[in-house]
This record gives sequence, structure tokens and C-alpha cells, in this order.
Amino acid sequence: MRRVYLDGNATTPLDPRVRAAMEPWLDCGNASSLHAEGRAARGAVDRAREQVAALIGASPREVVFTSGATEANALALLGAVRAGGMRAAACSAVEHPSVLRVLESLRPAVELHLVRVGADGCVPADATLPAGATLVSVMLANNETGAVMPVTALAESAHAAGAIVHTDAVQACGKMRVNVDELGVDMLSLSGHKMHGPKGAGALFVRRGVRLEPLARGGEHERGLRPGTEDVAAIVGLGAACDLAARETDARRAAWEGLRTHFLARLAAGLPDVRALAPPAALPNTLCLLFPDVPGEALLAGLDLEGVAVSTGSACASGAAEPSHVLLAMGLERAAAERSLRVSLHAATTSEDVDACLNGLARVVKRLRTARV
Ligand code: PMP
Repeated sequence: MRRVYLDGNATTPLDPRVRAAMEPWLDCGNASSLHAEGRAARGAVDRAREQVAALIGASPREVVFTSGATEANALALLGAVRAGGMRAAACSAVEHPSVLRVLESLRPAVELHLVRVGADGCVPADATLPAGATLVSVMLANNETGAVMPVTALAESAHAAGAIVHTDAVQACGKMRVNVDELGVDMLSLSGHKMHGPKGAGALFVRRGVRLEPLARGGEHERGLRPGTEDVAAIVGLGAACDLAARETDARRAAWEGLRTHFLARLAAGLPDVRALAPPAALPNTLCLLFPDVPGEALLAGLDLEGVAVSTGSACASGAAEPSHVLLAMGLERAAAERSLRVSLHAATTSEDVDACLNGLARVVKRLRTARV
């Protein structure tokens, strides 16, 4: 059976051009070594740093390679708190757990304020940030709803109050224009595998002048902020993925807009009682669907058997599926949040994939509804 993969916000297929760029570096020198093999590896890491910097409008010296966005988020938040002795921080209620759990872990030494989102999943641009919060983290785009946050406006008011500002731009990079100066942020996290690069490779942008304590101690790699021998192939893959994103995001977005319109039109015709969330500013690849009567878990399992991979917002914790904290923060009832499904397109998604998903969905919903009566 042909598999159809529509879970691009969880991870994306490795682009064959990224794979080809990585191949020569899987077995290469240590980028800290002084011999020819080492210098070649260093050159490859430096080129990748330029590619990452170019995607986000940063200087290469402001890019720190990490093992992914989870580590980039931890370095940004723990690093800033430890360097700045912060006593209070704020983040949106819909952050990824790699932000939320890190900030929660600092309680009670650091007071944590959760900034509320509206029913559309967005932090309002004029949200009042708690006085005294010297660290603010608001994601650029949400992984579950695709909602794009007004980070520029929030960064401006946070700076006026003397805070430093981090954004988790994992879901935004490769899906929309991302520029650290336009956003006005001090730190920004990104991840390779969300934009057709390898897993286990990410980066943190750290604006010149921002002080961070490293999470680990060791060598002077990444200016001492992230000691450890570099995974040259993964870093090269991340650089190549950023380079593709810089050149192809506009075309990806245009394709997604078309696929999304097609998806929603067919959904409205075939399953008119299914609602698609439509945040005012949203990633065009992300479709968060709310069903009136069937659980997301059952839809996911049914679609999987139909050969289609999608996801629900719920995270499986200790065997019990918890409804998405994102949907709950938007004001959905627990039961309604459990009846959601996320379809997320990626750069290689075709209209055949979308049709296969819709055909499968129609069959699964029919089966589930028949089983209920
Ligand atoms: N932030 C967001 C918004 C994400 O969607 C993810 C991945 N699900 C992460 C952070 C973590 O990224 P990584 O897998 O690179 O650790």
C-alpha cells in the first residue's frame, strides 16, 4: 500500500539534496583538529553556519549549533536565567513542552507567568506582559494550530520593560519569512528535521551581547556555549536545509495555499460538520480539524490503517492520552479537544496525497459513526 505522510509538523522527509550534501561528511575529520581532515570539517561547519544565518538574517557568529530545538530552547532559557539571575519569566500558554517544562522546572526560584491566548490560538499583539518578567518566550508559529504569533509587537513591549526575548521558530522556518531583526528578538530556536533536514541538528540564534551560561562544560566548541565534538554531517544537512528553505519557502507556501483550499472545499462538501480552525495569521500547511462526534485517536488509527499518517494534538503520558494543552488554552472543552486531528503538509505533498487523506477520512468517519449507532 502506498503510504501518504501528512505529519510534516512532527517531522519532514529528508530532502534528497540534503542527503547528498551530508553523505561526504558522515565520516570525516574532527572540526577542532588542525590537520587537513580537521580543516575540511571546520570549513563545512562554517559554510553551514553561514547558511543558517542567511535564512534568519543573522550574522554567522550569532549561530550556535545544538542537537535540535529542544536543546536550543533549553540553552536559551536556562542559559539566560543562570547568566542573568532572573526571578520572573513569561511565556505563552501554548508553547511547546520544551519551553513550558523548562520554565516550570525553575519554579519557585523563577516565577512563571503564562500569557493567555485567544480562542484563535494567538497571543493578542497588545497582551500585557507581567511586570518584572525579565525573560519572555513566545513561539513564532504553533505546531498544533499553525497560529502565527505577533512576535514583533510582543518583543517591542517586552524590550520596553527591560526583558530579553526568545522565540521558538521551529515551525516557522521553511514555512514563512523569518528575520531576527524584523522580529526584534534576542534569541531564536530552529530545527533541521522540521524543514527537510536531518533529525538531531538545530541551532540557537544568540544576538551579539546577550549573555548565556552553557548547559554543559568542556571544550571551546561553539564559543564555549555548546561544548562537544560537532556532528559535521548533521550540521551540513541543517545548513543545506536552511539554504533550500531560503530559496523555496515562497514556492512551498503557494503550493500549500492551493492544497489547503482544495482540502477545505472537499471537506466542506463531504464532511460539512467538521470545523477547521482558521487563526487570522496561520501557517498554510497546518490544518487543525475539529470533529463533532468522533475521537481524534480513533481517526488517527483508522487513517493509519488506510495508509495515511496524521496526528492528534494529544500527548500520550503514562498510557493515558491527555488532550492538547494548546486547544484547552484556547478555551475548548476537554471532550472537544479530544476530537481533533492535525493534518500538516510538507514540501513534497501532492494533491494526490491530499485526496488520499480525504478519501480515507470519509471512510473512517463513516465506519466510526456506523459503529456508534
Ligand atoms: N518547538 C516546537 C514548536 C516543535 O514543534 C518541536 C518539535 N515537535 C520542538 C520545539 C522540538 O524540536 P526538536 O525535535 O528539534 O527537539
